[in-house]
Amino acid sequence: MKELTRPALRKGWTRRQFTKILGLSAAAAALPKAVFAQTSPDKPNILFIMADDHCYQAIGAYGSRLAKLNPTPMIDRLAKEGILLENCFCTNSICTPSRACIMTGQHNAVNGVYDLGGKLLPEHQYLAIEMKKAGYQTAVIGKWHLKTDPNFDYYKVLPGQGSYMNPTFKEKGKGRVKMQGHSSDCITDSVLAYLKNRDKTRPFFLKYHFKAPHDMFRNAPRYESYLADVEIPEPESLWDNKNNGSIATRGHKDELLRYIGTSIGRRNLRRNYTKNWAKEPALNDDEAKRQAYQTYLKKFLRCVKGVDDNLKRVIDYLKEEGIYDNTVIMYTGDQGFMLGEHDYQDKRWAYEESMRMPFIVRYPRTIKAGTRTDAIVENVDFAPTMLDFAGVATPKYMQGRSFKSILETGREPRDAKQAAYYHYWMHMAHHDNPAHIAIRTKHYKLIMFYGTSQNRSVPQTPPGWELYDLKRDPYEMNNLYDEPKYKGIIAQLKQQLKELRSKYKEDDPKFAFNKVIDEFWDYDKSDRLKAIEISHVYRKSRDRSRQQQGSYAPG
Ligand code: CA
Repeated sequence: MKELTRPALRKGWTRRQFTKILGLSAAAAALPKAVFAQTSPDKPNILFIMADDHCYQAIGAYGSRLAKLNPTPMIDRLAKEGILLENCFCTNSICTPSRACIMTGQHNAVNGVYDLGGKLLPEHQYLAIEMKKAGYQTAVIGKWHLKTDPNFDYYKVLPGQGSYMNPTFKEKGKGRVKMQGHSSDCITDSVLAYLKNRDKTRPFFLKYHFKAPHDMFRNAPRYESYLADVEIPEPESLWDNKNNGSIATRGHKDELLRYIGTSIGRRNLRRNYTKNWAKEPALNDDEAKRQAYQTYLKKFLRCVKGVDDNLKRVIDYLKEEGIYDNTVIMYTGDQGFMLGEHDYQDKRWAYEESMRMPFIVRYPRTIKAGTRTDAIVENVDFAPTMLDFAGVATPKYMQGRSFKSILETGREPRDAKQAAYYHYWMHMAHHDNPAHIAIRTKHYKLIMFYGTSQNRSVPQTPPGWELYDLKRDPYEMNNLYDEPKYKGIIAQLKQQLKELRSKYKEDDPKFAFNKVIDEFWDYDKSDRLKAIEISHVYRKSRDRSRQQQGSYAPG
């Protein structure tokens, strides 16, 4: 049987084509899949690289204000030799839920991982399970953050967030293992050790996950002087946020600015970066904000540099091994990140810098070098796409869809995604962001802040809507929701949003917040009056607790 399979396999036929053409018996067709997986040239290695919170602004190839600092020469080279996605989005901009979407191909209402407390059971780690079934040796190394043990052939992961320096890992078969040095170096050393010792007769599926550049930032000592004398460009919205936001993010007549969304400058009283990096009371507000921003960005970019340099070590190894071109290399972050835009830090927002994920793919056998696409894809689509490269059809239980053909042809199929769906669930947790849902097309973004936690049926922060015309206003500086001429567009977007919520099972009445979404959907005059009242009540309660506690400690 083995002799018979070779010519067909050399031609790269799939198992199904092969059995069909030769008219093989059911018994022959039931040959172990591994026979095919081991030898078939249509199964490339798949290397999925993900850094934590690495946003597109901090990748040179995306051409943002930071590109002139040349923050990521290695990642830029991957983009030059492959394809860069301009419209890749996460469905919930926070570590654990985004990782769960990637592992399951499902939205959070279905995979059950809504927030940082979510767990992904081994039997629900579908991407790894399907890759194993397809004959891949599977491994995950680095930050995992899904609580349970990874269901991979091999793992070496940080427990929880893990440590930047001298990290401890949980390694399969060994338990706790401590390493010396910076986490990006240790994770890369572990990736190289894994690759050197792998079974070279089978393709690998490897998830290579950095902890960096997650806060609280710590770079390896060798980067301490990197960018030290450089003035990091600021976003305009750090200083003037114009008409970004709504009553939901600013309060009625801006009365909640000091309570919503952690800030660079002193705006958010509870948590802002001047408390970390511009503590001198003699600094005025502008000086403190400027100093906090410069320190924030330098710390972040030093961590990014460590990621990029380490990535080069792995790329060099793939070249030496002669498998660089036979490996589908994907680079992404688990979500975006606010680098001072709108005076925000952290992620969680549906605003572009937070919702967009960088995504670059290099695979010269089928993907043209130096290409770009503005097709809309989401993190739930990653698993179907990787499985597609492995020759596996998208399982029915996945909600995402493969975008492999878009990567390979640059063309979108007729039924391509028209919009990305977004839902941030963790109401006012950690970084003071109200819970919200959003829809993002190539032209517009419509956001509804419903302002309550998962099991509450009443809003705690004022509900509000925002509309941005991204073609005219890519930095989301002008909320058009109340502009009469956009009424028709808003109605269409609301209809699309409703349909997506139903399709992704997000409108299930078991989630109490859906009552609030329904109640404030039309946002008529009485809804607006209620929102103003909620804004006042919220401000008063926060003012009261501030007075009782004195000033807040930094979070
Ligand atoms: Ca993250």
